[in-house]
Amino acid sequence: MKLSRNRFRNIYIEYACESDAVTQHILKVFPHSEIIYINRYKELFSTPKHAYSLQKASTSLILARKTNNFLYSGSQFAQSTGFKNFFYNTILLNCIYDCHYCYLQGLFPSPNLVCFTNLEDFFSNTSTAISQRNNQGEPLFLSLSYDTDILAFESIFPFARRWIEYCSNNNNLLVEIRTKSTNFKTLSDIPSIPNVIFSWSLSPEIIAQNFEIGAPSPKSRLASIKQAIRMGWKVRLCFDPVILIKSWREIYLDYFKTVFQEINPMNIHDVTLGSFRMSSQHLKQARKHRPELGILHRDWKVNNGIASYGKEKREEISSFLRNELLQWFRPPQVSVW
Ligand code: SF4
Repeated sequence: MKLSRNRFRNIYIEYACESDAVTQHILKVFPHSEIIYINRYKELFSTPKHAYSLQKASTSLILARKTNNFLYSGSQFAQSTGFKNFFYNTILLNCIYDCHYCYLQGLFPSPNLVCFTNLEDFFSNTSTAISQRNNQGEPLFLSLSYDTDILAFESIFPFARRWIEYCSNNNNLLVEIRTKSTNFKTLSDIPSIPNVIFSWSLSPEIIAQNFEIGAPSPKSRLASIKQAIRMGWKVRLCFDPVILIKSWREIYLDYFKTVFQEINPMNIHDVTLGSFRMSSQHLKQARKHRPELGILHRDWKVNNGIASYGKEKREEISSFLRNELLQWFRPPQVSVW
């Protein structure tokens, strides 16, 4: 999907990052946007002037400098797939897509997209964290696409490319780039390296059409996955979140068959599977922000601060779909969340 040069009517820029290379690059991508200078992005992002839904219909881009917290310890809601030194970073806040089930709607007060422009500070802090990691026998596992879809942003600024370049000089770093994007094609000139995993989120077409608004179709994601495999990249598939709709069993089974007719499972590093879940605090806030989204207002059950299907239903979903995936994968390759 080609990004419109009119995607952001307004771009807000902190005075402090006006001359940063990232800022200058992005301004060339959006020559028609109105530029508004601000002191600190939080003035705009933490106390939005308009209702969330209204802002979501016409999001602005905010360019800012991050001053601390260049890495965070991995949370209980994310998948570390067993790595002990698990961190994530937030070079972007929010996402250009509009998945109706996304927790970002409850995490942040505004849907506007924040892009931090001091990339070099992220690299230097990551280098320090690598050298100081607790478990020196394992690499530092860094999730790059955490509160965002970083690859979806690649045509605005090539963050994924820059991180891959950084990874190629840091063997003690393992990076995961989770995405629904088809922008992988913009990376097709980069030779694959073993310490980057591309994780594509996949859903049956009917789920994507109803809930993954603005994201590329699952079919086009498959084309990107095939290209990444051909080039020798490590690829993880994430069937997550599983959303229950009428005939969900048949729909997911048909979808698995479609995927594994197209892709040889032997070429897949591993698979994750997870039902819809969200912190109950984020769900509460997301419901306020998006009263129009039916999926947020379903009768979710809360257990230990996590809103999801009830325990029995979650177990039914996991065991049913995991068993199906085991037709194609060995048990250690399938992580259930
Ligand atoms: S792609 Fe991921 S981060 Fe972006 S809206 Fe969808 S779920 Fe949220």
